[in-house]
Amino acid sequence: MNSLEERIIEAKRLICKVDYIVIGAGAGLSDAAGFHYSGKRFEKYFKDFKEKYGISDMYSGSFYPFETEEKKWAYWARMILCNTYNTKPTEVYQALLDLVKDKEYFIITTNADNQFYINGFDMNCYFETQGNYIYMQCQKGCHNKVYYNEKLIRMMVHQIKDCQIPSALVPRCPICGGKMDIHVRKDSHFVETKGWHSHQCQYSNFLKKALKHRVVFLEFGVGFNTPGIIRYPFERMVHQNKKAHLIRFNKDYDFCMKGNEDNVICFHEDILTILQKIQNYHVSSYIPKSKNKINHILWSRNPL
Ligand SMILES: [Zn+2]
Repeated sequence: MNSLEERIIEAKRLICKVDYIVIGAGAGLSDAAGFHYSGKRFEKYFKDFKEKYGISDMYSGSFYPFETEEKKWAYWARMILCNTYNTKPTEVYQALLDLVKDKEYFIITTNADNQFYINGFDMNCYFETQGNYIYMQCQKGCHNKVYYNEKLIRMMVHQIKDCQIPSALVPRCPICGGKMDIHVRKDSHFVETKGWHSHQCQYSNFLKKALKHRVVFLEFGVGFNTPGIIRYPFERMVHQNKKAHLIRFNKDYDFCMKGNEDNVICFHEDILTILQKIQNYHVSSYIPKSKNKINHILWSRNPL
């Protein structure tokens, strides 16, 4: 692996000369932004659930088999409030926005926490494949519609008592009368709305266009939970397109497939620090890539 300085310079060089950027975001990006699903933050918001049910972190809590709807919604309401509705723009997302705001970009994410919207990214260039906490859907997916939930979620949190919400607040499907769920993909009943398909189509069209030009894939915190959505396709596209490069941020899995080494830069270091370092480099004169590319680029830069 090249030194940190070399990787930062190379990343900056690629981003400067590129026409298109594709952002792929997994759970590691929101974790880097401070939305930790375990540890002290979990204790702060879910101490009572931990004591009552033995839940150890917010992620596993999402799969806990709560006995009643009152208990399930109490958990989800608090989870959504602290990770979405009660959050403000964060430095990590803002640093990323700063880096890409003057480029043509598109975002694909498996995160459901709505942080790209909260941080002011262009929602016309956005595909959230696994849903969004701000919506509810019929648990059985009996119809192809989702429902915005902010008012209800806030009411629920306000009225949680002994880890339950009042029965009167439990939502019911307006079509079949059955149970409702948060709109996140957890089984085959996930509702893919008209909007979902439209965003999928826009993503596919963006890729077709971008791959005819120079493109950089910026990937953040994507592990091996669902690698088939972002991680593997990014590597495949980079492998098949000489003009494509991948900049991968991953503290645990900062490596790439064999054969892609020349077109991939990996960072295991703190995402915010690296984004700021890349942003703070300024190209004063650009000389095209050569064997000794680093020495041939004239930079005026802040010290690392
Ligand atoms: Zn229904």
